[in-house]
Amino acid sequence: MKRPRRPDIAYVALVGGSFVLALAASWAAPQIDNQAYDWMFRLYEPEPWQTEAALLAIDEESLATFGGLRNIRGPMAKALVQVAGAGPKAVAVDLILAEPSVEADDRALEEAFRTTPGLVLSAQLISGGARWEEPLPRFARHAAAVGHVHAEPDHLDSIGRALPLERQNYRARRWALALEALRVSRGAQITESPEELQVGGVRVPAHIRDGRLMRIRYVPPTMPPLERVGLERLLAEPALAAKFAGKVVFVGLTAQGAVRDWLFTPYSPSIPMMGVEIHANAYETLAEQRFLTDAPSWAVLGFAALLSLGAGLAFSQARLWQAYLAALGLLAAAHVVPYQCFTRGKVFSFATPVAAAWFSSVTAAGWQHLVVRRRLRRAEADRLRYQQTIHFVTHEMRTPLTAIQGTSELMTRFALPEEKRKQMAELINSESKRLARMIEIFLGVERLSAGQVELKKESFDAADVVEACVKRARPVAERKRIELRAEIMGENLALTGDRELMEYAVYNLLTNAVKYSPEQTRVTISAERRDGRVRVAVEDQGIGIDRKEIRRIFQKFYRTRKAEQSGEAGTGIGLSIVEQIVTQHGGTIEVRSAPGQGSCFTLVLPAVVSVSVAEHS
Ligand code: ADP
Repeated sequence: MKRPRRPDIAYVALVGGSFVLALAASWAAPQIDNQAYDWMFRLYEPEPWQTEAALLAIDEESLATFGGLRNIRGPMAKALVQVAGAGPKAVAVDLILAEPSVEADDRALEEAFRTTPGLVLSAQLISGGARWEEPLPRFARHAAAVGHVHAEPDHLDSIGRALPLERQNYRARRWALALEALRVSRGAQITESPEELQVGGVRVPAHIRDGRLMRIRYVPPTMPPLERVGLERLLAEPALAAKFAGKVVFVGLTAQGAVRDWLFTPYSPSIPMMGVEIHANAYETLAEQRFLTDAPSWAVLGFAALLSLGAGLAFSQARLWQAYLAALGLLAAAHVVPYQCFTRGKVFSFATPVAAAWFSSVTAAGWQHLVVRRRLRRAEADRLRYQQTIHFVTHEMRTPLTAIQGTSELMTRFALPEEKRKQMAELINSESKRLARMIEIFLGVERLSAGQVELKKESFDAADVVEACVKRARPVAERKRIELRAEIMGENLALTGDRELMEYAVYNLLTNAVKYSPEQTRVTISAERRDGRVRVAVEDQGIGIDRKEIRRIFQKFYRTRKAEQSGEAGTGIGLSIVEQIVTQHGGTIEVRSAPGQGSCFTLVLPAVVSVSVAEHS
C-alpha cells in the first residue's frame, strides 16, 4: 500500500492561500452571486400552483379613456363596486391616496371603499424616511390595513429580488402591502419573532437582522400569468368581475411611463415589472409559502473549505490522473450544489465554492507539476551521473586490464625466455597494482566527498610527488612527442596529508596537459615554496580554455567544447576529484588559460610549519 506523503508546508500554505483568495474574490464580486441566482431562477421550473392574486390594472387604455391618473378615482370607485360584487378575499390598492382630488370622485371612492371587503391601502416613506405618506383619513377609515409599498431593488444591478416585509421610521412601522393583504384575506394576526413572522398558519422566514427581507418567488413564465383585468375593460364589460371571485385583488398602475414604479426581475432583466405586479408576486410567495432563504454562511464556508481541502489532498496524495479526476468532481460539485440547494429553497453562494474549487485545484495542480518536473529532472541527472561514473570506471580501467590480458596471453601461448617472462610478470604485477590503486582512489574520493573517511596524515615531499608523476606520464607524453620538463625550485617542499591522493591529483593535471596539447609542444611542471605555501604548477601550450568555462571545468562531468572537439577521450570527472583532494588538504587551485594560448593549473598547498622551523635552525 502506498504510504500517504506528508505534504509540504509551502504546499499547504499555497492551497490555504488560494482558499483565502477565493473567499476574498467571491466577496469582492457579489454581482456574480446575483447573476448565478438569476440564472438558477430561470433554469429551475417549480411545480405549478393555483394563483390567488389577481390584478385590476390601470393600464394605458384606462388612462387614455379617463383622462390620466388624476381622473382615475371616479372610474376606480365604479370598478371597485363591481369587484366587491364578485366577492374577493381582499383588495389591495397600490396607489398612495394622500391628496384630495375632485370632491365628487373622492366621495364616490370613499363610498366604494366602504363596501370593499378586506381593503388594504398603501403608504410610503418620503423625505428620506422622515415621514409616512398615508392615505387620507376618509379613505383609511374604511381600510382593514395600510401596508407599505417599498420594493428593494438590488443596489448593484437594480433587479428586484427581495422585498422588506417591514418598514419603519421613528414614528410608525408598517408591514408590506402583500403581507397585510395575506393577513386580511386570512382574517389573522401577525405574530413576530426575531427569526420569522407568522400569519394565520403561514411561517415567513424573515430575520429582523436582515430587515425582514423576503425573496420574491416570481410566478414563472411557464405558468399561466396572474389573472388581470384592465379597469376600462371591466367597466365596459362588468361580467369580467367574476374573475375576481375568491381572489386577492391588487389594484394599481400597469401603464409604464405614467409613474416610475417598476423594477427588473430575475425573469426579465430587460423588461421591467410594474410595482403592483411585484406586490402581487410577493403575495403569491407568501400565500404559497415558496420561500427562498439564504444558506447559513458557515455552510458555504465549510463547503468551500472542503473543496479546497479535497483539491489539496488529491494532488498531494493521489496519482496525477486520479487527482485530475477528483478535481473535476470537486468542480462539478461546486457548480451543482448551489443549484441543488436552490431547488430546495436555499440560496447558496455560487461564487465562493466555485472560486475555492477552481483556485485550489489550479494551485495544487500547478505546484504538483512543478514538483513532479523537478523530481524528474533530478532523477534524470542522477541517472546521467551514474552512467558517467560507470563510463569513467570502465574507461580508466581498460588500459591496465588490456595490458594484463595481453601479457598473460603471451606468457601462456609462447615459450619465452626467462628474462622476458620475468619482465612480463612484473608488468602484470605493476598494472594490477595500478588497477587496485585506481579503485581505491576512486572509492576513497567518493567516500572523502561524502565525508565518510578521514584524510591520511603523513608527511611527504612535493618534489617526490612531481618526480613520480613525471615518470609515469613520460611514456604518454612521448607518444605525442611532447617535451616534459620538471623544475624543482628550492628544497623544503614538505607537505602533510595523503601522498597517494596528491599524486593522483598532480598526475591528473599532467595527463590533462598532455591530452589537451598538440604534438611537439612542451609541458612544464614546477614546484616551489612561496609565502608559506607550496605551489605545484603544470603549464602547457595546448588548446586552452574559454574564460567563461574556467569555473565550470571543476564540475563533475563537465567538458569544454574544445576538449570534446579535440577527439581526446575524457569523462570530465578528473578535475572534480583533483579539486576535492586539494580542498581536503586545505589548498586551492589557480587556473590561468586562454583559448589557443595554453593553460596553467597551479595547486597552492599549505607548507608544513615544522619544516620551516627546521629551515631557520
Ligand atoms: P577529462 O579530461 O576527462 O575530460 P577533467 O575533469 O580532467 O576531465 O577535465 C575537465 C575539462 O577541463 C576537460 O574536459 C577539458 O575541457 C578541460 N581541461 C582540463 N585540463 C585542461 C588543459 N590542460 N587544457 C585545456 N583544457 C583542459
